[in-house]
Amino acid sequence: MLLRATDAIQLNENQVTTPPPTIEQGFSTISVHAGEQRQKPINSITDPIVCASTYTFKDTQSVIDYIEQKQDRGEYGRYGNPGEQVVERKLAALEGAEQAILYSSGMAALVGLLTAKLSAGDEVIFFDECYHRSRQFCTQHLSRFGVVTRTVKTGDYEAMESAINQNTKMLISESPTNPHLSIVDLERFSDIGKRHQVDTLIDATLATPFNVRPIEYGVDFVMHSATKYFGGHNDLLAGVVAGSKEKLEEVRDLRGILGSVNSAHNVYLLERGLKTFELRMQRHNENGQLVAEFLENHPAVSRVLYPGLQSHRYHQLARRTMNGFGGLITFEVANADWKQTAAVVDNVQVPRIAPSLGGVESLIEQPLVMSYFNYPPAERTKFGITDNMIRLSCGIENGNDLVEDLSQALEHAHTA
Ligand SMILES: *Cc1c(COP(=O)(O)O)cnc(C)c1O
Repeated sequence: MLLRATDAIQLNENQVTTPPPTIEQGFSTISVHAGEQRQKPINSITDPIVCASTYTFKDTQSVIDYIEQKQDRGEYGRYGNPGEQVVERKLAALEGAEQAILYSSGMAALVGLLTAKLSAGDEVIFFDECYHRSRQFCTQHLSRFGVVTRTVKTGDYEAMESAINQNTKMLISESPTNPHLSIVDLERFSDIGKRHQVDTLIDATLATPFNVRPIEYGVDFVMHSATKYFGGHNDLLAGVVAGSKEKLEEVRDLRGILGSVNSAHNVYLLERGLKTFELRMQRHNENGQLVAEFLENHPAVSRVLYPGLQSHRYHQLARRTMNGFGGLITFEVANADWKQTAAVVDNVQVPRIAPSLGGVESLIEQPLVMSYFNYPPAERTKFGITDNMIRLSCGIENGNDLVEDLSQALEHAHTA
């Protein structure tokens, strides 16, 4: 039978989903297959890239049927794309969540969730170690709409609990945090939320569901910058929020208004990147551990922050709750000022100097220069950013090459 073009792409979510497997599937099987139709509309093994800003109706009656929700199908590109639905189902399966909503970036995901959930007079409480743009959105922008942001020290659960009042609507943290790699006790965190009937959100970008699945600990929402490990190839921006269908309903509706959606090509890149997700994560975890142990034993390094090291403040908690500790390492060069630290960054040969993390290419940066250059020194100190700090995102290169490279670069620390 030949398919007519109009039949080729079916947008009905129920029609396109392969029935749930009856066998329990491993992580890599899920990332390769979940959310996809087993036999696709044009018999291709890969999903088609549907470049359509709008979707056609055969007649007026089908428009009416659609409005009366008798037909589940596409309407207009801002409300969704078939490829996007595949990736959303795949990410929800990886996360162990009912639903996932895809956004055009991690920040768009955070903004989309918070603007859907918060109104004037509401309050949010943050653990203080976090991506500086997330904090900035709340303190500089949500504040203009009457939302109050409170910040407490990362890991101080008593302080978080006592900051809750009748206006508190959400508790927010990263885990691990950026760039200090602190680990949040997710059970304790979600328990505070449940007892006070306040939603909880974890930005688990640095962990990924391969290393920890916050929903299993009772956290309400998990968000990720899919730009990082999910995409994995430093070639796209995307973001995702996962949670229960019920809690995400208004979030999805608002995304359709905000318009922070991905192009069909971008969604395809993300789906392709996800196919190798487990393999990449295994190598990121291996490289992270290997390089962190090397750095910790190096005389030119005074401090290494990596949850997989016994010296890490939250090592026991990380061991108990995480499958691995990721590729991100923060370390300090011994007795070095910012210029001597920059000399190490400037002399590596394998990692590239760039912000971001989680891709196949190792990336290196000095947080003082890359993210906090225009901050007054007192502010930097407040956020725990030191002059001799380096952040390294281990890619999937051969671990020994990274070690050898850092070994030669560290020799430059005091020749600057
Ligand atoms: C990168 C990042 C973000 C922002 O994501 P974008 O995709 O760059 O918008 C948010 N949180 C964390 C922890 C990140 O690393």
